[in-house]
Amino acid sequence: FIQLYCEPLYRNGIKFGLLLVHRDITKEYEVDRMKSEFVSTVSHELRTPLASVLGFAELLLHRELKPERQRKYMTTIHQEARRLTTLINDFLDLQRMESGKQTYELKLLSLTALITEAVDMQQLSAPNHHIQVRHEAPSTIVLADRDKMHQVIINLLSNAIKYSPNGGQIDIVSGINHNQFYIRIEDHGLGIPTEAMKNLFNKFYRVDNTDRREIGGTGLGLAIVKEIVTKHEGKIEVQSEFGKGSIFTVTLPIAEQPNPIISEESNIAAWDETSIQ
Ligand code: ADP
Repeated sequence: FIQLYCEPLYRNGIKFGLLLVHRDITKEYEVDRMKSEFVSTVSHELRTPLASVLGFAELLLHRELKPERQRKYMTTIHQEARRLTTLINDFLDLQRMESGKQTYELKLLSLTALITEAVDMQQLSAPNHHIQVRHEAPSTIVLADRDKMHQVIINLLSNAIKYSPNGGQIDIVSGINHNQFYIRIEDHGLGIPTEAMKNLFNKFYRVDNTDRREIGGTGLGLAIVKEIVTKHEGKIEVQSEFGKGSIFTVTLPIAEQPNPIISEESNIAAWDETSIQ
């Protein structure tokens, strides 16, 4: 996009030329377009759960309802309000990360210990899923932000749980390949249709499929994972077969530290601490 500015030039009241300014405004135009797209997506995402909260609250206020019906409506209001909170928190987190305002506290971590911790946490909320962990390399040290890396594992693992049937098997394998640390999270659930793969890491993207309509989510989890992994100079890849299951693989550079002494309890090597923006 080009902006043209034209003005006649005068000397002693006589026009002697034209000032022509030619400016490339493609970038500004693109930023404006992204801003308005962003505002309309966000307001749509907020409006849907808010409409349910308002609708059910009005029914409760203005109708004589049986106690079990009241309870049903209150449960829906509670669920939708929780969904709104998650949506807003995830969204603000992502915004902060993308704008570069988020500080990453890089520390030497044992990722194997971090995986075990995340699995223990998720297993509590999904007791029927069989989550199996296998470390193909001894405790591996990466330079990473502990909370952010925890979030990556939790987001991927909770998706594997959400999008696979109750009692499903989930395998988490970690190891080293080509001097990179990898974490592979494999489920045998719904799988992802081929046409959805290219949009998977986009903000608010959710696969539109009848089976999934009932499954709660914000469509921000994978965008957050991608942002965090990229900031750690890592990569995220996905392989999936629709109806069969999915494999998400995160690769991260291994920290170059001679003989680090890691405390498995705290996951943190005591002596090294670095911060990046
Ligand atoms: P959501 O909050 O919807 O889970 P995500 O960004 O985490 O958002 O994921 C985006 C979409 O990708 C999901 O809505 C789901 O359709 C699909 N997806 C993510 N992980 C899996 C998985 N392990 N198996 C099947 N589909 C998945």
